[in-house]
Amino acid sequence: MSAQVGSGADPNGAIARVRDERGEILGTGVFDPASPIAVRMWTHGDAGLDADVFRARLRRALSVRHAWFGGGETTAYRVLNGEGDRVPGFVLDRYADVAVLRIDGEAARAVAPVLLAHLEAVLRDEGITTLLEREPARGNTGTAKRVHVRFGPPREKVEVKEHGVPFVVDVLHGQKTGAFLDQRENRRRMGELVAERRARGLGVKVLNLFSYTGGFSLRAALAGGTVTSVDVAAEAHATAQESFRLAGVDPSLHEFAAADAFAFLERAKERGRSWDVVISDPPSFAPSEKAKPKAIAAYRALHRACAAVLADDGCLVAASCSSHMPTEDFVATLDDHALGRDDLRVLEIFGHPADHPTLPAFPEGRYLKLVVLAGC
Ligand code: SAH
Repeated sequence: MSAQVGSGADPNGAIARVRDERGEILGTGVFDPASPIAVRMWTHGDAGLDADVFRARLRRALSVRHAWFGGGETTAYRVLNGEGDRVPGFVLDRYADVAVLRIDGEAARAVAPVLLAHLEAVLRDEGITTLLEREPARGNTGTAKRVHVRFGPPREKVEVKEHGVPFVVDVLHGQKTGAFLDQRENRRRMGELVAERRARGLGVKVLNLFSYTGGFSLRAALAGGTVTSVDVAAEAHATAQESFRLAGVDPSLHEFAAADAFAFLERAKERGRSWDVVISDPPSFAPSEKAKPKAIAAYRALHRACAAVLADDGCLVAASCSSHMPTEDFVATLDDHALGRDDLRVLEIFGHPADHPTLPAFPEGRYLKLVVLAGC
């Protein structure tokens, strides 16, 4: 196989024709010399790659999102999910009339001016008034991201709805593109779970660890739960409380702790506190394959600490967003030995929703696992 990348000085991000050993054209892609994948393929056969191809894929992605979200009950969703929407390197999230673009990798960034030529026109047609671009986080800290305005007036806080529930999203300072859209259906499920427990006369004191802007918390509170939210980021609690008020829930009836989750759990155990539902959705513990053994140990320790504050008849909900932690490996970190109790069974396992499509051949794209365990 060979790639023909033209004669420009910098091959990075060059549009490349890929040929087989007989010289037949296999397709066209973007040359990415810094990546283990030398050419990110976009088209097959003779079809070339240009701004029209990108526009056609964006329109196709939008038309399926219209079918899913056209009713208006959900106004925050992923429009483009990189490879999964056949636009490798490009992620686009919509928050009502604001969209946030993330371009991953040097090659995608180099080719973006060519491919995105029609982006503004298509998004304005969609009712998007501001397009922000966020640089992906460097390293594992998730901080120090730069945001710039591609078009429209600058925006900071945006009000959106998830299945009719209002949320405030800080598109300027928030993590990822502002919110963790991948947990949307799971947040709804947590609301149902709390409501089911209430209907059965079971306890509904909820501990939401790594709560960020309180997505799981608000769902649980609306279902009648009394919720303790724990996150190191105090500003995330402030946004969560805005969402509570917007949804008509008094945040002062719930607890918001700005604390390290591990330290919080230890103190709670010492004080003999317990909760009926414990939700744990930490940041990725396994940024690389090499980090996996340490990550497994960290998940086991976290899950044991969660189980130690979980009431009898309780429900443990544990999530992982590490792509290097396949579902079965993650479920194994919740075994009886890890938890130090033998009354919990796996009831349900969820992943990410349809607006985060993935390719069969790209398992790393299926990073999200959420496991629901209960004894009854
Ligand atoms: N469940 C959330 C997303 C969680 S993201 C949602 O549905 O929107 C992970 C969160 O963990 C971030 O908000 C981050 O601030 C927080 N975090 C990271 N390390 C932490 C720690 N040691 N203790 C508590 N929170 C932590």
